[in-house]
Amino acid sequence: MSTYTHLYINGDWVMPHGSGVAEVINPATEAITGHVPLGDERDVEHAVTAARRAFPNWSRTPASERAAYILALGQQLKARAGEMAALITAELGMPVQWCQSVQVDGPLEGLLSYAEIAALMEQQREVGNSLVIREAVGVCAFINPWNYPLHQLIGKLAPALAAGCTVVVKPSQETPLHAFLLAEMIDAIGLPAGVFNLVSGPGAKVGEALARHPDVDMVSFTGSTAAGVRVSMAAAPTVKRVCLELGGKSPFLITADADLGAAVRHGVQDVMINSGQTCTALTRMLIPRSRYAEALELARAESESLKVGDPLDPQSFLGPMCSASQRRTVLDYIRVGQQEGARLLSGGASLPAGLERGFYVRPTLFAEVANGMRIAQEEIFGPVLCLLPYEDEEQAVRLANESPFGLSSAVWAGTPARALELARGLRAGQCFVNGAAFNYRAPFGGYKQSGNGREWGEEGLAEFVETKAIQC
Ligand code: NAD
Repeated sequence: MSTYTHLYINGDWVMPHGSGVAEVINPATEAITGHVPLGDERDVEHAVTAARRAFPNWSRTPASERAAYILALGQQLKARAGEMAALITAELGMPVQWCQSVQVDGPLEGLLSYAEIAALMEQQREVGNSLVIREAVGVCAFINPWNYPLHQLIGKLAPALAAGCTVVVKPSQETPLHAFLLAEMIDAIGLPAGVFNLVSGPGAKVGEALARHPDVDMVSFTGSTAAGVRVSMAAAPTVKRVCLELGGKSPFLITADADLGAAVRHGVQDVMINSGQTCTALTRMLIPRSRYAEALELARAESESLKVGDPLDPQSFLGPMCSASQRRTVLDYIRVGQQEGARLLSGGASLPAGLERGFYVRPTLFAEVANGMRIAQEEIFGPVLCLLPYEDEEQAVRLANESPFGLSSAVWAGTPARALELARGLRAGQCFVNGAAFNYRAPFGGYKQSGNGREWGEEGLAEFVETKAIQC
């Protein structure tokens, strides 16, 4: 049990103004696994004031000094990686098979990269009679989701620290515990008071208060498109910078000459990891009609081979959904798919056998999906894969792009040259070719309604930078 009673503000653990406490539920057992305080608008005020006060000195420290703090935080995270992974398994339900590598080691790599990237803050250039320099944006608010909680937090915090910003963090109410553990690490490295502040609480209260606050210069939001729109509206009157990392419905285009077995296996696993609760999940698999029947069989075999169960069992590929309400949403979508006339190939809305406790869902495949169906257009955020046939590659690219989203995409083709050509035609911020891996040094973000910002790499730093032209 992880119980936190205090918020972290101005370098100290402080009592929240309100008296509320939120329970954190382990989605595999439905038991309480922790408690965090429920902050409110007064706590936001306290945290923003501390961040504002800390900003002038912190933003003027040499980049090398900020890089040293990033490295020290990296050492803390490395030393406590097992503890962090166990906490995330308990609050999110991601199986131990994946949790440390995906939820901790990856973000750690990303964090450490900013110890180098920080040096870019000191680059300046001359343009005619102007000296162009970089400065930190100011006080930043981070509002985060629950699905890759530490990854989301580090993706904002590391570049913000590198740039010289001060921050107020609001984690998701489903998975707030990792943020409290990270605050312990920040406390341990002696980051100057007020540079990092943590206020947990409901989105509509704490999140909106941060987005509205006139002393917050930037809000970086990751979450659903609907909440991102509300954050933008709350932020608009103060004209602050708003960076949005939102939902997705990503296509996976497989060509007729691809290694079908490898491609389909990769596509099924990509959707099922983290029980489909991945913003970049390749949930629309586009398959040439000539190989469609073969692909369906491969997909069914792969999906049915993946074990759903206790996240603490090293054999489990899929754990539960993060919450009861997320399971309800996913099961509703499975019924919608059936009503729309898609063919249920595997899985379905009945609960997995032998898993009466925990918010489990069976990995589900739909065949004969038309791209206009709701299950092909809306983000389900569960282990549900739509398999769509196409006639030729031109149609495949058109179908891939017929989506309100544009977060990620993938291509699997017989030759790298053809895959690259197809990748250029996809309207999305990411494209993974023939199963390539995520790169923490490359920019990440969405086109269209998947957002307007970029995280990670040098572009991730740029989000937190103002440029100043000094005419001499
Ligand atoms: P959500 O939008 O419900 O909540 C995200 C965060 O916003 C939470 O901290 C929540 O408390 C807060 N919030 C909710 N309403 C708010 C409001 N009116 N004002 C301010 N804050 C508010 O999303 P979720 O269910 O936590 O996460 C799942 C969503 O996140 C999916 O749509 C997924 O695609 C998206 N996501 C996107 C990325 C990306 O990088 N593009 C990464 C992970 C998740």
